[in-house]
Amino acid sequence: MNDCQTMKKPKLCKYCGVEIGKSVGCSQQNFWTKCKPTRRIPFRGLIATDECPRCGAHNGCYHHAGCPEEECPKCGDKVQECGCMEGAL
Ligand SMILES: [Zn+2]
Ligand SMILES: [Zn+2]
Ligand SMILES: [Zn+2]
Repeated sequence: MNDCQTMKKPKLCKYCGVEIGKSVGCSQQNFWTKCKPTRRIPFRGLIATDECPRCGAHNGCYHHAGCPEEECPKCGDKVQECGCMEGAL
């Protein structure tokens, strides 16, 4: 018998502290880099009831920290890959 349920730790968003996938979106609206805020890009679904497949953000709400679907407000690429917001919180 292998109970892997007890091994699973909930993934908490480092911005808002809420368990990822358990809320409608992140309460953190900006990336903070060098003490300057940059407005984040909220999730936009094709239909109003769409949710982000990775972090569960609802349409028009912000992604949680580390979501691979989030767009970079600077260059428009995936923010986890472009590095513009590296070190931002
Ligand atoms: Zn969050
Ligand atoms: Zn997301
Ligand atoms: Zn970028």
